Amino acid sequence: MNFLPDFSHIYVESQSIDSDIAKQSFKRFPKAKIIEIEDYKKIFNKNGQDFQIQKLSTKLILAKKQPPFIYPATDIIQDSGFSNFYYCTPILNCIYNCEYCFLQGMYSSANIVVFTNTVEVKDAVKKQILERKYPDEPLLLSLSYNTDILALENILPLTKQWIDFANNTDDLFMEIRTKSGLTSSFNKLKPSKKILFAWTLSPNNIIQKYEHKTPLLERRIMSIQKIVDSGWPVRLSFDPILIYPNWKEDYKQMFERIKETISGDKIFDITIGVFRMSDDFYNRIKKTKPDSDLFYNNYDNSNNVKTVTKDQKEMVRDFALSQLDGYCNGDKINFWD
Ligand code: SF4
Repeated sequence: MNFLPDFSHIYVESQSIDSDIAKQSFKRFPKAKIIEIEDYKKIFNKNGQDFQIQKLSTKLILAKKQPPFIYPATDIIQDSGFSNFYYCTPILNCIYNCEYCFLQGMYSSANIVVFTNTVEVKDAVKKQILERKYPDEPLLLSLSYNTDILALENILPLTKQWIDFANNTDDLFMEIRTKSGLTSSFNKLKPSKKILFAWTLSPNNIIQKYEHKTPLLERRIMSIQKIVDSGWPVRLSFDPILIYPNWKEDYKQMFERIKETISGDKIFDITIGVFRMSDDFYNRIKKTKPDSDLFYNNYDNSNNVKTVTKDQKEMVRDFALSQLDGYCNGDKINFWD
């Protein structure tokens, strides 16, 4: 499925109206009603909004990001061995709608906010690089913590601009996590070892049941193949692996398809994880009585994180490791714990 939003309304802060991103957006959606606003938070953070109803017709909000511009990564995102691990939020919310996504617990609105003051954000990244705790290692910056930035590339080419920035900034390594099938924007770019595309992969049964509006497995695999073959570093992310009756059959088929199409020698690494969500976000979503069965399972609660039991975690780890045995060097496989 190739889903791109057609925004009917663009809310734009007065201070962002003359920005390049605003001009691009107005041009991209010429029929959208443009509404000038003073402060995006008055719309975005309003109480009583229904996230899933808004998902049916999301609006675009353009605003100026206020500090902080860069954040240390939380324990819930895998750092895979990078000591200086940060994220920034060029966009809030996502055009996709995965049922296990924490964004529905983090924000009261499903509307998509794009921040227009990218220069200020990039200056903050440069400052953080100079102040990083482990100066012998680069800073790893995740761009897709609160969004799937690559999925929006056909609308706003922000990923390409961030790649240019990383290529011209010393000691910066950037992770772009995605489920998209978009690679056309990168065909003309020289592959960069400073960019790590991290593709999340799931069996089609999971994609169709839980990862709404995202491309099917084959489309993601084809995109990865192209990107890997052109020489970009790619991380394969099996995260979350969900447990349900016959889950092993579905995942086995997926692993087999990946092994026959993507060369294990060429990939950068692999991350594996299970369902997990901070207690706060989980409880907030649960209160809205979601349709998703994912919120009616019995989870363990460890360190304010809802997740599967220790035994289930071990079962997933053993199963995934057995499926990936011989596919790539075992040191390249990291498991969220
Ligand atoms: S692709 Fe990622 S950010 Fe987007 S809805 Fe799914 S889990 Fe959330």
